[in-house]
Amino acid sequence: MVVDESIHLQYLQAMGIEVWKTRHGQVEISVAKSSNEKQTALIIPDKADYWTDLKQEVSLCQNCRLCEARTQTVFGSGNQQADWMLIGEAPGQTEDLEGKPFVGRAGQLLTEMIRALGLEREQVFITNILKCRPPGNRDPKAEEMAACSDFLQRQIAHVQPKIILAVGRIAAQNLLKTQEPLAKLRGIVHKLDNTPLIVSYHPAYLLRSLLEKRKAWDDLQFAIRAYKELKE
Ligand code: URA
Repeated sequence: MVVDESIHLQYLQAMGIEVWKTRHGQVEISVAKSSNEKQTALIIPDKADYWTDLKQEVSLCQNCRLCEARTQTVFGSGNQQADWMLIGEAPGQTEDLEGKPFVGRAGQLLTEMIRALGLEREQVFITNILKCRPPGNRDPKAEEMAACSDFLQRQIAHVQPKIILAVGRIAAQNLLKTQEPLAKLRGIVHKLDNTPLIVSYHPAYLLRSLLEKRKAWDDLQFAIRAYKELKE
C-alpha cells in the first residue's frame, strides 16, 4: 500500500516522533526509545516529492546574477523516468518567457531530432546546463555554469537516463569537462559517471549551417546504435 507522504508524516508526528525535512527532501525522524536515548532513521522520500521540491528550489534560485534579468527559470520538460536525456546550453528568449526548454525555432528542430531517434518529446527529458537565460543569449560564463551544476547533477541522478545526448559545444564541453572542439567529441560513446553520453550539434547551429544537418543525422543514428547496444 502506498501511503501519501503527508499522511505518513502526520502519523509520525501524532506518535510523538520528531520529523525533520532536509533541503534535499529526505526526511529524518527521531524516535525517543527512552528519555535520554534517541534512535534516528532516514526515510527515502517519495520520488515525485523530490522532483517537486527540486523544481521549487530551481525556481527560487539566486546562485548567480542571471536571476536578476530572468522572467522565470527553465527547469526542463518531459518524462522524469526517460531513458533519453537531452541537454542543451541555456534558455533563450522564448524559453525564458514560456518557462519551457527548446520551444523556439531551435526547439522545433530539436523536436525533429528527437523524432529521428524514433521518439516524441514527451518520452525524453530535455533540460539545459543553465536554468536561466543569459542576457542577449550570450554564451554562459564559467561561474554561471558552476553555480547551476548541482541542479543538473540532481536531475540526472533522479531521472537516471540510460543515455544522454549533449547538443552543442557548450553542453558537451561542460558535461565532459574538456575544451576539445565539438568535431572531436562527436562519434564517441563518452561516459558521464557510468551513463553513455553522445555529442551532436546544437539545433540553433544547424539552423544556420544546413550542410551540417547530415552530420547531425549521423550522430543520431550513432546514438541509436549506442542505446541499442546497452540492451544487448
Ligand atoms: N537553446 C538551448 O540551448 N536551450 C534551449 O532551451 C533553447 C535554446
